[in-house]
Amino acid sequence: LNTIVYAQKAADISTLSEKTLHTILEKNRAYYTQGKVADYIPELGKMDAKAIAFSVVDKNGKVFNTGDVNKKFTMQSISKIISLMVAVNEKGEAHIFDKMGYFGSDKPFNHFSNLETTGKPLNPMMNAGAILTTSLIPGDGEKPFLKILDMVRYITKNSSIDYNKSVYESEKSTGHRNRGMFYIMKNSGLISGNEDQLDNYFKQCSIELTAEDLAKIGYFFANQCVRFDGDATYKNADMAKLVESQMLTAGMYEFSGEYSRTVGLPSKSGVGGGITVSVPGKIGIGVFSPALDQHG
Ligand code: GLU
Repeated sequence: LNTIVYAQKAADISTLSEKTLHTILEKNRAYYTQGKVADYIPELGKMDAKAIAFSVVDKNGKVFNTGDVNKKFTMQSISKIISLMVAVNEKGEAHIFDKMGYFGSDKPFNHFSNLETTGKPLNPMMNAGAILTTSLIPGDGEKPFLKILDMVRYITKNSSIDYNKSVYESEKSTGHRNRGMFYIMKNSGLISGNEDQLDNYFKQCSIELTAEDLAKIGYFFANQCVRFDGDATYKNADMAKLVESQMLTAGMYEFSGEYSRTVGLPSKSGVGGGITVSVPGKIGIGVFSPALDQHG
């Protein structure tokens, strides 16, 4: 948390340097001992708990990196902000949010929340809403996933990004809660397709990238969906506002409220150990540290 608050100040005084980042990283290095690598997806349990990386894209799109910057990890729930953008781009906000809410989260990521009562997921950041969002992206089979992957590659300008097949297989064979949510939503008519749609969700979670890629994603939503190199193909202030509002109210699951109070920046976590942060109108931050606290 200190890291991010410090970076917010740095964004204001524009004195960012790799050395500053390195100092911050070293100050925070020991915190991993307070966390635990996610192992409910067996393949994730193999992550190195001590790995740590920190990346910032400043206002001018310049990249600053420190730590294990070449270490790749899976983006997991951070993919949900990309699938939300793709779905809203193609189907319109009204269509997507007719089927789920804009509610904040006070529940863990995999909670069934009110699927049983009102039938609708609380928001597109928790698993239920994210699985539904991906199912609403048009296209047969793997196509919706490929659209998400293409968008990640575009935003990061990194065409080598792909998904990790072993993590995907691991998620697919153990994701029984997610499968349960998928079928409850199919039962209530919210989802109309077959299990390919759930596979697309597992695949998007398994997209592998680095802290630098995450910082570029943070920058993109912080700057009206303009890419770090100035490319404005997807420029859309309202889309950025929608995604950032979801990050702020639900991006850190049940910790979102407390996080808003203490850090106050739109952020999205993933159980692979990444967090993408947008400092609105300014910079993007990507952090990687796979030892998670109890909120994932
Ligand atoms: N693939 C993970 C799951 O669905 C994502 C959870 C997360 O990153 O919070 O369980």
